[in-house]
Amino acid sequence: MVSKRITPEVAQNDPDSFKSEVLQHMGTTTELGALAWNLGVNNGTVDPSRFVLNTRSWVSQSNGAGHLVLGTQPMSEGEKSRLLFHGERLSYLDEVSRRLLHELGHGALFLARHDTNMHTVRALTHSVRVQTGNAHGLSALGSMPFYETPNDKSIEDTTELLTMRMVGKDHFDDYMAFLRDPRYEAARTSSGIIALGDTDYLADTVNEALSEALSKSQSND
Ligand SMILES: [Zn+2]
Repeated sequence: MVSKRITPEVAQNDPDSFKSEVLQHMGTTTELGALAWNLGVNNGTVDPSRFVLNTRSWVSQSNGAGHLVLGTQPMSEGEKSRLLFHGERLSYLDEVSRRLLHELGHGALFLARHDTNMHTVRALTHSVRVQTGNAHGLSALGSMPFYETPNDKSIEDTTELLTMRMVGKDHFDDYMAFLRDPRYEAARTSSGIIALGDTDYLADTVNEALSEALSKSQSND
């Protein structure tokens, strides 16, 4: 149920409607987005009163302590398809929802950072960055020059893996196929993504890490 056509202008003129439409869209079109939002609110990584819009660019940010900035300018078509897996299929509302989900992914990573599986995903993404001299990793977003150190890049890689799983199991499985299928070599290379021979271990660990993170939601209810 979309009561208002959501555009970058709505973000400027009516930020409250914009935020609630994006939140509702994210919750209804992704498998785990609503749970991730509740996880953040229940554990203090998202404070709804400090959820604000950045209407000047698509750059978004969250600090793990409740402050969340959501960028509302659209990516160019090129950025969208290069930086987001299957990004070319996303509407404007899908794209903004995806960014919100990514920020919630940072919160999930933060909350579960001491858990074994999350720690393993972090170690994996980091070692890929170190082994490739920082040139390649497990996500296109992490390969943006904006992120410089292997640590910063692998935090984005980890967050993107969590985000893709939160979108849905099929989407995540498609991305795992993208990582290992030789047919996508050119697309991977142009996005700074490494090839994996086997993705079962990565997929299992991301799944476990995310369920552990989301299970923390009940603790403060
Ligand atoms: Zn990020």
